[in-house]
Amino acid sequence: MAKARKPKRKRKEQTLGELKQCCRRLCRKIVFIRDGHRCVRCSRTQGDFYQSGNPVVLQWSHLVRRAQSERLVCEPRNSVVHCSACHKWWETQDKLMTVAWFVGQYGQEHWDWLVSQRKIKETIYKSDWSALRDRLGKELAAITSSD
Ligand SMILES: [Zn+2]
Repeated sequence: MAKARKPKRKRKEQTLGELKQCCRRLCRKIVFIRDGHRCVRCSRTQGDFYQSGNPVVLQWSHLVRRAQSERLVCEPRNSVVHCSACHKWWETQDKLMTVAWFVGQYGQEHWDWLVSQRKIKETIYKSDWSALRDRLGKELAAITSSD
């Protein structure tokens, strides 16, 4: 006789704010695991110190800034781990220099993709955020379950 299946627990509907926060948390986690908890530019990690003696603080750094594209805020391909010094460098240095660094690291194709994505202006609906949450959840599961 077949056992009665336990009814699936229904996930409580998240508000838009909670959904966005959830996506940000997931994306940040994915990026930190992917980048090995090190600054992608100088390789410093939490616990290291700068020459000045100040402790290194790792940050979730966006390539296309948050203000420029809401749809890229939680896109792992649009963010990296930077230490606070390299994060500042990325945001304040001459773009020719920072973009040259980026292209050297990740390739022209990746940069072109980011630029093309930045140009898309479209409304992001709540359903897009929940689809993104599911996609990021799967991505995180995939990188945490392998080896
Ligand atoms: Zn750094």
